[in-house]
Amino acid sequence: MLKPQEAFQILQEIPVPRQKVHLPLIHCLGGILMEDLLADRDFPPFDRVMMDGIAIGNIHIKEWALEGIAFAGETQKSLSNPDGAWEIMTGSPLPKNCVAVLKIEDLYFFEKEGKKWVSSKNDSIEKGSFIHTQGSDIQQGQIILKKGTRLKANHIAIAASVGYSRLWVEELGEIHVFSTGDELVSIEETPLDHQIRSSNSIMMQSALQHVGITSKHHHLPDDPTIILQSLKTSLSTVDILLLSGGVSAGKKDYIPGILKDLGFEAKFHKIAQKPGKPLWVGNREDGKVIFAFPGNPISTLVCFSIYFLSWIQDQKTPFPQVKIEGLQAPLANLDHWIPIQWTSEHRAKVLQHNGSGDLVHWQHADALAWQKANDPNDELTYFPL
Ligand code: AMP
Ligand code: MG
Repeated sequence: MLKPQEAFQILQEIPVPRQKVHLPLIHCLGGILMEDLLADRDFPPFDRVMMDGIAIGNIHIKEWALEGIAFAGETQKSLSNPDGAWEIMTGSPLPKNCVAVLKIEDLYFFEKEGKKWVSSKNDSIEKGSFIHTQGSDIQQGQIILKKGTRLKANHIAIAASVGYSRLWVEELGEIHVFSTGDELVSIEETPLDHQIRSSNSIMMQSALQHVGITSKHHHLPDDPTIILQSLKTSLSTVDILLLSGGVSAGKKDYIPGILKDLGFEAKFHKIAQKPGKPLWVGNREDGKVIFAFPGNPISTLVCFSIYFLSWIQDQKTPFPQVKIEGLQAPLANLDHWIPIQWTSEHRAKVLQHNGSGDLVHWQHADALAWQKANDPNDELTYFPL
């Protein structure tokens, strides 16, 4: 059976199907930029004042006669007296003939012979201080944001500052989420004694929404004909399907066989892990990908979080290490995903629970610690939940 580490490697080789779209900037977060963006001017575009204070031309004197006030948004001023100063505000262009900016906290303003003067409380004045020099961040025509960048909020700010109100990005299209099982009823229904409410699909849909992906949900009974037809219909419009339930060894676990009939190749089915052993992942020649999660709510949560979310977000490895109290001995042949709770900044303890059907105790889990088979280490890497 495949180890989780091997499963992560296989996932990296499955291309994430994305669509090329030209979107308003406000909708580009999380997309992958498909074009290099060029600086349309120098950044900053002028010698920019970085502090409220004064701009001076002579750094070797201690008192300067004021010539006026320059605000951000006004055209560049010019110092006429070499021993004079302009009062200036952050973001304004440095007046011509000035070589340094002194900040307001270091200044003393006074009047002499009916004129306004300013002196510095600071002994050392450096040429160039608090001046954000034109073109010092990047020069006009250079690449300011590279093709292939996964767009975060700070990248959106850069695109805005070079005048792009729309961008070409690759992003995930809509995903269809399927719950399966004759025992499941919808959230609004009152279950009979032998039934339970379906929770996996809404959990996955909420998490997808959190990363900016739209989804639709369908419920499927344990009926191979209906399952086949529904999946076929969805596959005619979407590239990624997420299924929960029906992939284990039960008599009505039809999913793997149906996916094969639909032309999908299993990249893996079964991972040497607890929980979530029967996880099925496969793709088809046309690039469509299906993740079929074992139905136990915690198995779905764990497999969806650590495999699916890291796959679509191109995360290569799990997260830092933490020292964990209360660890049991490692399992002999299975890697163990253990729910942990933070006790202090760098420490965590194992959360007690009743297995992979127990959403109730797992509500307190902050992260999943990865205890590898046969590894007695009590310092483990983890995935935040
Ligand atoms: P299965 O993988 O289909 O054998 O299901 C394993 C267990 O998970 C069963 O107890 C199911 O009732 C439960 N289960 C399956 N799908 C869901 C779901 N969508 N929401 C909550 N529990 C589920
Ligand atoms: Mg089932």
